[in-house]
Amino acid sequence: MAVTGVTLRLDGARWREHLHVVRGATPGLIPVVKGNGYGYGLARLAEESASLGVDTIAVGTVHEVDAVRDIFGGDIVILTPWRADNQRAVELADDPRIISTVSRLSDLRSIAEHGGRPRVLVELLTSMRRHGIPTTELTEVAPLLEQLDFRGWTIHLPIRAEGRYPEAEKLSRAALATAVGPLWLSHLPPEEAAALARQLGGAEGEPAALRLRVGTRLWLGDESTRTTTATVLDVHQVRRGERAGYRQRVVPADGWIVVVAGGTSHGIGLEAPTSAVSMRQRAISVATGSLEAAGLALSPYTIGGKKRWFLEPPHMQSSLVFLPRNQTPPVIGDEVPVELRLTIATVDQIVTD
Ligand SMILES: *Cc1c(COP(=O)(O)O)cnc(C)c1O
Repeated sequence: MAVTGVTLRLDGARWREHLHVVRGATPGLIPVVKGNGYGYGLARLAEESASLGVDTIAVGTVHEVDAVRDIFGGDIVILTPWRADNQRAVELADDPRIISTVSRLSDLRSIAEHGGRPRVLVELLTSMRRHGIPTTELTEVAPLLEQLDFRGWTIHLPIRAEGRYPEAEKLSRAALATAVGPLWLSHLPPEEAAALARQLGGAEGEPAALRLRVGTRLWLGDESTRTTTATVLDVHQVRRGERAGYRQRVVPADGWIVVVAGGTSHGIGLEAPTSAVSMRQRAISVATGSLEAAGLALSPYTIGGKKRWFLEPPHMQSSLVFLPRNQTPPVIGDEVPVELRLTIATVDQIVTD
């Protein structure tokens, strides 16, 4: 059956092989299932997590719990810090499959007073400076843990490699000196995590227990497992100087307007995501006084082996792309490659081969 719209085509066997390789190489893997589901959707990732056999996944917010809990049967960590004034977060604290993240001392007091020994991770402030309790307040944390089902410490490190390992080590030591529990880390490569576990365990001891949260590297790590395409919806021949589009822009040269599926509702913005390509093409276009000089922006659509220019900014569900006359235009119904940033994209369909 023909597809129309924006399509993510997945080589299912190779994708799952990649997921298993990451799983095998990542101690205590916690798949992160949040946001737009990395282009696949939350339900799909919950399903894949279940077949990967992990015991726990992490969602971003309380609003995402319902989308995964009937599909994935294990534990669900909520990454956004718990707040006493978030009613849904308070309700979920009583749910035996939920693990709440607590990132402020005042919230740790509130959730301890809540009763029923909710399951919690305590977050430490890192150089990210996003959420977390500073190590200077750790002495006040220890007594509160007695009223909670303490599941471990969470440490969200920046992606930048410089200084990451020493920071992970320093914070982990401070945490373990306060209370013993697994360390839940993000953005520490598996080799560094294994080294850290051994180092924290000491020469004689068992390696420290680590859990590693992974989103992008797991779900999107192997680009060769997928392609993204868009359907050609219409093609019109145009001459230089004619006008076209919502904004009635002047067509810069003779050629074709190719109307392709995909627009702002798919997360297709004004610019192609790969700036390196656009910078080079941009330099060429400026040098030759061509389309960019005419005020056009490079699109993420490839037609005739090259990224083409938007005639005007994308609309909700389709885009007008200009193709010069020396090219053979595609025909209606053709699929053309489109480069999507899958952490912001919404595709119309996923086809798994
Ligand atoms: C989103 C998130 C992750 C996953 O990040 P990726 O870069 O997609 O792997 C890990 N940890 C925390 C705390 C997050 O919020």
